[in-house]
Amino acid sequence: MNKRRILIVEDEQDIADLVSLHLGTLCDETVIARDGHEGLRLATSEQWAVIILDLRLPGPDGLEICRAVRRERAYQPILMLTSKSSELDRVLGLETGADDYLTKPFSVLELVARVRALFRRIENFQQTPKAANDGIVTAGGLSIDAESREVILDGQAIELTAREFDLLNHFARNPGRVFRRADLLDKVWGYGHEGYEHTVNSHINRLRAKIEGNPSEPEMIVTVWGVGYKFAA
Ligand code: CA
Repeated sequence: MNKRRILIVEDEQDIADLVSLHLGTLCDETVIARDGHEGLRLATSEQWAVIILDLRLPGPDGLEICRAVRRERAYQPILMLTSKSSELDRVLGLETGADDYLTKPFSVLELVARVRALFRRIENFQQTPKAANDGIVTAGGLSIDAESREVILDGQAIELTAREFDLLNHFARNPGRVFRRADLLDKVWGYGHEGYEHTVNSHINRLRAKIEGNPSEPEMIVTVWGVGYKFAA
């Protein structure tokens, strides 16, 4: 059995200790990196159940670390901590690929709930009877392998983050069905939060940029005006 370990990259000692204390109940071990150099080294060299990543760090910042991790492992859950909501655009932007985020000051109970939801989602996925997740879904040049979590588009492998994969997999297994943003938060993120709909929008945009021929006129994940999105197979 692999131990479930959580990496916390955070230079503010009080926050790091508090987060470590609370997340310690959800895993076998927490490891704290107190600057960007140590964070970058640990994040890219070892396996983590989730990485809690502060945006502003001495040395390489959270965005740089996030990018470096994604270059090596698309499927690595990352939860980003930001100090200002004005930084959210950067965190949510196409470039980073964080799976989730919280803005400081955040409630540590909220953080625990997010990480718990993330683990539950992964466990549900692993425990889903094989038939339900079976094999490969294909649609419009896309081939999605739920087991290996590989996505092929027109013969080319495409790199998706954990959340992007889950989102696409969810859509592709329910073609034609319209999902409200709140439904997607509930099903794919594992929690419902009013006011977090822009999280869904930004992940949809990132996904579109990776799979749509023309992301501004999407043909696969289409907007259902005033309602949400659907997968047009
Ligand atoms: Ca910081």
